[in-house]
Formats: sequence, C-alpha cells, structure tokens
Amino acid sequence: MITVVGAGPVGLVTALLAARAGMDVQVLEQRRKLPIDKACGEGLMPGGVEILRDLNVDIDQDGCSPFVGVRWIDELSVAEGRFPAGPGLGLRRVHLHRGLWEAARREGVPVHLGARVTGLSPEGVLCSEGLFSSRWILAADGLHSGLRKLGGLSLGPGPRPRFGLRRHYAVSPWTDFVEVHWAPGVEAYVTPVGPRRVGVAFLWSGEKAHFDQLLERFPRLQRRLEGAPVDSQDLGAGPLHQRVSSVVSGRLALVGDAAGYLDALTGEGLSLGFQQAASLVRAIQAGDLRFYVQEHAELVRLPLTMMHLLLFAARNPPLRARLIRSLSSRPDTFGRLLALNDGASLSSLGLGRVLSLGAGMVVWGALLQPQPRAEPVLEPRRVGDPVAGQVERPGLRQPRRQRVRAGLTDLVVGQQQRGERARGERDGAVVGHAVPAQVQRVQLPRRDPARARVTQRVAVQDERGQRWRAPAQ
Ligand SMILES: Cc1cc2nc3c(=O)[nH]c(=O)nc-3n(C[C@H](O)[C@H](O)[C@H](O)COP(=O)(O)OP(=O)(O)OC[C@H]3O[C@@H](n4cnc5c(N)ncnc54)[C@H](O)[C@@H]3O)c2cc1C
Repeated sequence: MITVVGAGPVGLVTALLAARAGMDVQVLEQRRKLPIDKACGEGLMPGGVEILRDLNVDIDQDGCSPFVGVRWIDELSVAEGRFPAGPGLGLRRVHLHRGLWEAARREGVPVHLGARVTGLSPEGVLCSEGLFSSRWILAADGLHSGLRKLGGLSLGPGPRPRFGLRRHYAVSPWTDFVEVHWAPGVEAYVTPVGPRRVGVAFLWSGEKAHFDQLLERFPRLQRRLEGAPVDSQDLGAGPLHQRVSSVVSGRLALVGDAAGYLDALTGEGLSLGFQQAASLVRAIQAGDLRFYVQEHAELVRLPLTMMHLLLFAARNPPLRARLIRSLSSRPDTFGRLLALNDGASLSSLGLGRVLSLGAGMVVWGALLQPQPRAEPVLEPRRVGDPVAGQVERPGLRQPRRQRVRAGLTDLVVGQQQRGERARGERDGAVVGHAVPAQVQRVQLPRRDPARARVTQRVAVQDERGQRWRAPAQ
C-alpha cells in the first residue's frame, strides 16, 4: 500500500498516476472539505496541461482560460514569449481541485478527509484516525510540510523571505497572456482564469502587506481593475523559500512543494510538481527511490537556475530593466526559455533553436556580468526622510563622468539630456522624477552604495509637485 499525505493538486496527481500504474494507493488529507482554495497565480504551464490531459481530468470551462505565453511589463519595456508547443491553462484552484478529485473518485482512489498526519511509524503513518499501514509514504503536504520535518529532511526557510497574496476580479480578461508586472521589490501576476474572471497575485520581499497597498505600486494595473467587482477572498502564502537536505529518507519521499520550494516567480510550481509525481511513481515501480532522487535533481535544475537568475534580477531593478528590454526584441528566445523552464529538453527544441537559445543565454550571461554602474544612485533627502533615486539613461551605458577615488566613486551627473530621467524612490516605491536640467553630485561608497551621500543640492519633484531636496553637504 502507498499512502499519499496531502490531497492538494500534486498529491492527487501522484495518487492518480500510482493507481493508473496498478498500485494500491490511499490519500490522507487534513481538511474536512474539498475542493481546497489556495493562494496561487493559477497559471498551469503547458507541461502540466499535458499531464492533466493524459489523466483525463475534466476542468469546468467556467473556471479556466488557455493562455499562449507570458508577458513581462516594467516601467519602460514589454517583452512577450509564446509557448512553442501549445498553450498553458489559467485555472481557478477550486476548479482544478474538483477535476482532480473527480478523476481520483473515478479511479477508485480512497481520499480520507479530516486525517491529519502527525507522526511516522515503522508500519506507516500516524494520524488523528489512527495508524495507516503503508510500504511507501509520499509526502505531498505542501510548502510548510510537517512530514519534511518529521523525516529530518527540512533545512528551514531561506534567508530572504518572500510572500504571496492573491485576489480575483470579475472582469473579462484583456489578454491571452499571463502578465507579470514588475516594480521594485514586488511583482504582480495577472492570469485569465475564466471568461469573466482575472486572478491577480503579488509576490514580494520584506514585510507582510495588504493587497490594496501592493496594488498601488502598479498604477496602470490599478486603473485597469478600477470598479471591477472583487470575486474572491484575499489569500496569502509564505515565506516561500523552503529548503531540504534530500527528497527521500528511507520509505518516505517528498513531492511537490513539500520537496522544497524556492519561489513562484516563474509560475511552474504545479507543472513541476506533476512531473515530480510521475518520476516518483516510476521509481516506486522500479522499487528504488534513488531513481527519484536522481530524476528530481534533473527536473529542478533548470527551473531553479532560472528562478535564481530572475530573483537576482528582481532585486536589481536596472538589471531587470535591461533583461526585459533585451527580451522584448527576442520573443523567440523568450518562448524557448519558457519551454525549457517547463521541462522541454534541449534536443526536443532542434539544433537551430538550440543555437538561437544559446545566443539568448549569451544575452543573459552578458546581462548578469558585473557592469559598470550605468545608473548612478542618488539619495536626495528631506531632513529625516531618506529617498533613494536612480538616473535612468536609455541607450547610455556609462555615466558621463565618473572618477574613482580610494573607496569612493565620485559621480557627477551634469545637465540632463532628452529621455533621461532621475527617479526618486522611498521605501522601494517611486515617489517622483527629478526636475530636468539640474546638477547632481553623489558620493558612492563602493562597498555600501546604500550609504550614498549627496554632495550637492538635488531636487526631486513628486507626482503631487512636492519637491524633495537634498541638503548641501
Ligand atoms: C502567490 C503564489 C503564486 C503561485 N503561482 C503559481 C502559478 O501561477 N502556477 C503554478 O504552477 N504554481 C504557482 N504557485 C505554486 C503552486 O501554488 C504550488 O506549487 C502548488 O500549490 C503545490 O501543490 P502541492 O499539492 O504540492 O501543495 P498544496 O497545494 O499546498 O497541498 C498540500 C495539501 O496537504 C495538506 N496537508 C498539509 N499537512 C498535512 C498533514 N499533516 N496531514 C494531511 N494533510 C496535510 C494540505 O491541507 C493541502 O491540501 C504559486 C504559489 C504562490 C504562493
């Protein structure tokens, strides 16, 4: 007997695949009622859609919309990548769950509700309903997996906590892409999830925040949603980064979010979880979980690399802006990166495509090389009220004049040229743009740019016309 702990999407897919392979399988779920809603961007990548199709999972048309790719939007550029092999599916979690549950029922998989697993024993798992004997224990109990801890496989959360929060609006989708809107320190994910429903999920780092506070960081999106009725309760999740020492210990195997999670930024959590489930079932068929350990490492290698790169870019707005600008003129490369992230093999993309992808990777590599600082950091100040700022210089790689002295980069930005803007930020939010034609002089301690000192008066004017002045020093 196989016991799957957790009747989330990955647990149910694992159980379905095991049942299809002729195994005796049962599912234990702590909740008393299905379907289960959850904070999620609800964009299922094409690889995941294919697995649902193979399992004959029916999704109610009212709760889903196909999407053809991913669109990244920041203050200056828009980049679009289309999936090369078929669409993904935006789908409400409750509809996905209902479909999976129905499929499990049809397959004769017993799902025990209200069965919270609290311990492991040599015979199986212990829960509120007693002992469930099992040969294999497959933990699909989510981001904060208790079994991961019970099995001694948890390394705890990562060092930079990120959180997620979602809400739905009853409004017709305006696009058949999943849109990712980027702002400093926070991204908004917009997914069409039905003929008259759009999901908005935020991912951000730092303190917990309310949905409306986060939405204010995206004025364009806020305007789009103005007046649209809210169609769900706000649901949150986090901290997201959860680390594991291994995905297997004896007869216990972790799958889905339970097997470690970095971030939802690339939106392939479900798809990757389903692929892990398929690999785990193959390893059980072979009677050796070491196959799963190996395949799991291969499955997550590329998505994790991408995610680390993107998280790095998310923390570095100038780099992120360069990345989006660069991908905006390479839609094919963007599409192939999406496919690779979703489990396509390099060979399946063909030689020509691999070469062009190679070119794309070179772009990535170049973007991630340490570059001379193109955007000098300013820190205009109103007394006691620090404001960080950047000068954006489309097309200009180097600051016009830069002198490096022992430990200090002394930067002088002269008259602004056309298209050049200085941006003032406070607590990560843009508060305004510098008035044109001003002279700014900044001292940048090399090791700690956050302590940049403004050595000459600068003025930044915010949207309400208020001027922020840096004291002359
Ligand atoms: C803000 C946000 C946006 C996201 N966007 C996307 C996206 O667009 N696309 C995508 O593919 N992924 C996305 N993800 C990731 C995706 O939501 C997860 O990867 C997915 O939910 C993992 O499913 P799971 O079945 O592993 O875990 P879960 O869905 O968390 O299910 C775990 C189940 O285990 C049960 N359980 C827990 N403990 C016990 C216990 N002790 N005993 C019994 N049962 C237990 C829980 O009740 C739950 O039902 C996003 C995540 C977040 C936070």
